[in-house]
Amino acid sequence: MQSEFGFRLGTFLQVGKRVAYPLSLTVSESLCTDNAVVLGNAAQSVHPVAAQGLNLGLRDVKALVELLKKYKFNSNDYAQMLAEYEQMRTADRNHVIRLTDGLTRVFAAQASPLKSLRSLGIRAVGALPAVQRTLLRRNLGMRYFTNAFG
Ligand SMILES: Cc1cc2nc3c(=O)[nH]c(=O)nc-3n(C[C@H](O)[C@H](O)[C@H](O)COP(=O)(O)OP(=O)(O)OC[C@H]3O[C@@H](n4cnc5c(N)ncnc54)[C@H](O)[C@@H]3O)c2cc1C
Repeated sequence: MQSEFGFRLGTFLQVGKRVAYPLSLTVSESLCTDNAVVLGNAAQSVHPVAAQGLNLGLRDVKALVELLKKYKFNSNDYAQMLAEYEQMRTADRNHVIRLTDGLTRVFAAQASPLKSLRSLGIRAVGALPAVQRTLLRRNLGMRYFTNAFG
């Protein structure tokens, strides 16, 4: 394992038992209670098909930090702040959930017409830089923030 992975993160000291688990969509129905918030994978575990899970979680963190600053860490306002957090994160979460779940279904489909369409779609995206740029911009999630990532 060390020779395959290299030493980028140092030396492996211990290897635990290997387990297998299904990669599937898990979504928390609600993000907040009056005094608690779930974010990152605890809020939504999306299929890694589009490499979006960590990015989405980082945007959750960024949104929460922005709101904590806006509300000046005043615990009297936390219920209102968390309601705002939930509202702020809805569009981005829903977009990534739909994207990853949709792609998973498309890639899992075995019917011939769907397989042909899928290959055509992949080739089209590969050949059209403008489409690639649009997809990239859309999936970076930047539009959900007023200011860029620092
Ligand atoms: C194969 C694969 C490839 C991926 N590739 C990408 C990618 O390229 N780009 C991308 O953006 N995302 C990717 N992801 C998704 C990304 O790994 C996750 O979205 C991200 O790690 C979530 O971070 P998190 O901190 O929210 O949760 P986690 O990484 O799940 O961290 C939660 C931590 O809490 C610990 N924990 C759980 N329960 C308890 C408890 N009761 N008490 C104490 N500790 C507890 C867990 O052990 C874990 O260490 C990939 C995921 C997989 C599976």
